[in-house]
Amino acid sequence: MSEARPGFQREAKKHLGQHFLHEKGVINKIVQAVDPKPGDRLVEIGPGQGAITFPLLDRHGALTVIEFDRDLIAPLTEAAQAHGRLTIVHRDVLQVDFTALAKDVEGTDGQIRLVGNLPYNLSSPILFHALEHAGAIRDMHFMLQKEVVDRMAAEPGSKVYGRLSVMLQAYCRVVPLFKVPPGAFRPPPKVDSAVVRMVPRAPGEMGVQDPVRFTHVVRAAFGQRRKTLRNALQGVADTAMIEAAGLRPDARAEQIDVAGFVRLANLPTP
Ligand code: SAM
Repeated sequence: MSEARPGFQREAKKHLGQHFLHEKGVINKIVQAVDPKPGDRLVEIGPGQGAITFPLLDRHGALTVIEFDRDLIAPLTEAAQAHGRLTIVHRDVLQVDFTALAKDVEGTDGQIRLVGNLPYNLSSPILFHALEHAGAIRDMHFMLQKEVVDRMAAEPGSKVYGRLSVMLQAYCRVVPLFKVPPGAFRPPPKVDSAVVRMVPRAPGEMGVQDPVRFTHVVRAAFGQRRKTLRNALQGVADTAMIEAAGLRPDARAEQIDVAGFVRLANLPTP
C-alpha cells in the first residue's frame, strides 16, 4: 500500500505504472529543470496525485494534464483549486493529438512543453508518439527507467546503443539530467530512474527525408544486431547503397552513427 495525499486513492494501480514521487528534492530539481517562463504552455503526462503538478502550478499558474485513471480526476480537480488553473484531459495519452493541443495555444509560439514521470510500461510508445508530433513540441522532461535513458542517449559502439538511440537522436537532442533512486517513489519501482531532457531538432537539422523509410532501415539494421549490415539489410538496401552511404558492408549496426543511417535511408531505392 502506498501513502496517498489526502483526498486521493490509497492504492497505486500497478497496471497503470503508478509510482508516486514523494521526494521533495527530486520534485524541486524537476521543476528547476523545466524552468517555466511566462507564456509557456506546459502539458504534464500522468499527473497522478499531483507530485509535480502542484509545484508546477504554484510556479506557473496554469497547466494542462493528461491522466487516464478516472479515480484521479475528481481529487486532482479539487486539489488544484488552491494552486492555479488546471485543465484536465481524461484520456489515454497515446490517443492525444499533441499537434492539435498546441494549435489552440494562445500567446505562445504554438508549441507545448511536455513534462512527465511516465508510466514505465508505456515509455517507448509515449516517446514514439511524441516524435510523431515533434513539430508541436518545444521540449520534453521525462522521468524514465535509468536503463531506458542510457539507451536513448547512447553513442555508437556502446553496448546499449540501438534502435531507440538512433530513432530518438535523429529527431531530438537527448540530454540525461540526473538519476533518481527507487526510494523517491511510493511504491518504489524495482529499478533506478533518471530524468532526461529532449529537445526536438529543427526540421532538416539531421535531414531525414522520408521518416517511414528511415524507420524501416534502422529497424532492419538492428533487428539482426549481430549480423553485418550487408546481411541485416537484405531486401532493404544492397551493398552498393551501403557503400554509397559511406558505410562498410561488413560493419554492424551498433557501429554506425545517426548521420550514417540518415545518409543510407536518404538514398534513392533501386
Ligand atoms: N506524476 C505522478 C508522480 O510523479 O507522482 C504520477 C506518476 S506515475 C509513474 C504515472 C502516471 O501516469 C499515473 O498517474 C498513471 O495513472 C498515469 N498513466 C498511466 N497510463 C497512462 C496513459 N495511457 N495515459 C495517461 N496517463 C497514464
